[in-house]
Amino acid sequence: MFQAPDLDGARAQEIARGLAQVQSRITTACAAAGRAPEEVTLIVVTKTYPASDLGVLSSLGVRDVGENRDQEAGPKADQLSDLDLRWHFIGQLQTNKAKSVVRYASVVHSVDRTSLAVALGKAASGTSGRGPAALDCLIQVSLDGDTSRGGAPIGEVWNLGDLIAAQDGLRLAGVMAVAPLGADPNGAFATLHEVSARLQALHPGADVISAGMSGDLESAIGQGATHLRVGGAVLGQRPPLGYGRNAETE
Ligand SMILES: *Cc1c(COP(=O)(O)O)cnc(C)c1O
Repeated sequence: MFQAPDLDGARAQEIARGLAQVQSRITTACAAAGRAPEEVTLIVVTKTYPASDLGVLSSLGVRDVGENRDQEAGPKADQLSDLDLRWHFIGQLQTNKAKSVVRYASVVHSVDRTSLAVALGKAASGTSGRGPAALDCLIQVSLDGDTSRGGAPIGEVWNLGDLIAAQDGLRLAGVMAVAPLGADPNGAFATLHEVSARLQALHPGADVISAGMSGDLESAIGQGATHLRVGGAVLGQRPPLGYGRNAETE
């Protein structure tokens, strides 16, 4: 059972302030882009932050949270199962973790190869206790073709989309990308928008565009993002690497 957070505490107030700032940035960017703020879902990325912060976020009305490591996300999701949270898995994923991730994740943003799509499909349609809901999958796109940080090259998106759509237990929901280091985020997210349009021509339901982080959410909104993944701007400086982490998995 999760202990209700102290909303008058200093940490809760810090989180409330960060959340309000990000929501105001979203409102401003949507106005500039001629979009309705309701078109954009904020996913608060809680990796490395303690479960107590998720309790605060939930009390503040946040429903969508993002994590990038199964070893951290699984226990947090178990501990917080009483809260009405939607878990987004946003990190590079090994096929042998598929079974664990489908237990708690509503969306996997980082599907970037056929072996992973097949493993997720098998896990999601198997005896995982998910119930009837299909697992939403986004294709992570490598916008500069450097796949070392995850993501499929643009040329592989179409076949991967067909394969995900063909898996029992999976639903092809759209695309995700991280702006390449040093690149102009406007240009990068404009490319992602084009990839999304081509994918939707083939798979009309695949309308999610997951793009934009603390530093570039305005660019992402300007280029049609439907989902933002924001950590630091809401929760403050991320705890140092190693905090709450299991060295063997790094
Ligand atoms: C950590 C992370 C984010 C959030 O980054 P911030 O700069 O803290 O907003 C978004 N997307 C992915 C894939 C991440 O790993």
